[in-house]
Amino acid sequence: MGSPEAGGVSGRGTDRLRVGVLASQGDFMAHERMLRELSADAVAVRTAEQLADLDALVIPGGESTTITKAIDRDGLEPAIRSHATDDRPILGTCAGMIVCDRDHLGLIDATVRRNAFGRQIASFETDLELAGIGPDALRAVFIRAPWIESHGDGVEVLATVDGHPVAIRDGRVLACSFHPELTDDLRVHALLMAMATAARDERHAVEPSAAEGRSTGE
Ligand code: GLN
Repeated sequence: MGSPEAGGVSGRGTDRLRVGVLASQGDFMAHERMLRELSADAVAVRTAEQLADLDALVIPGGESTTITKAIDRDGLEPAIRSHATDDRPILGTCAGMIVCDRDHLGLIDATVRRNAFGRQIASFETDLELAGIGPDALRAVFIRAPWIESHGDGVEVLATVDGHPVAIRDGRVLACSFHPELTDDLRVHALLMAMATAARDERHAVEPSAAEGRSTGE
């Protein structure tokens, strides 16, 4: 199959994808807007119950210490973990990437360095080539951004800046240093949704009765 494009991910006549956006702190509404543009049902997630049965989860940028405290305070960690162990995709952006790393939730086999680009060049934009979204460069907005300091062999580096990984994929987790929700380029979210569609198809292949139960009247 080719690279995931916005048009190819949605509207295949099946149920819409339910994608949660962790709404403890940060710029979650911009993510919700993008997901809706891609025809997903976007859900602002603040409780463990809202994490049940999501097709994918976005952990947005913001302030990683604040997000980590909110996850603790609201008791969300077990539900985020079962989402991940159930092989349901996750996208962590900027502070969300930090929250996913080995020193935090451990959802990616990588260690992230906070504020890695230094405070002097706290924010910048650049064009990135990002593996998996097609040949056109992606305009990427970095705000007090982290980079991947080290990672395991199973981690696929999708994009780098000055030799430092700024977008990776580890199994069903995508993580990027920048803010894909701050431009009008939908391709990173479309990639997440393509991963979510594949994961949902696999779940239904394992349990066909779960997929068909509703139409057979039970
Ligand atoms: N510098 C922030 C942190 O360390 C991340 C910034 C962002 O998400 N834009 O948490």
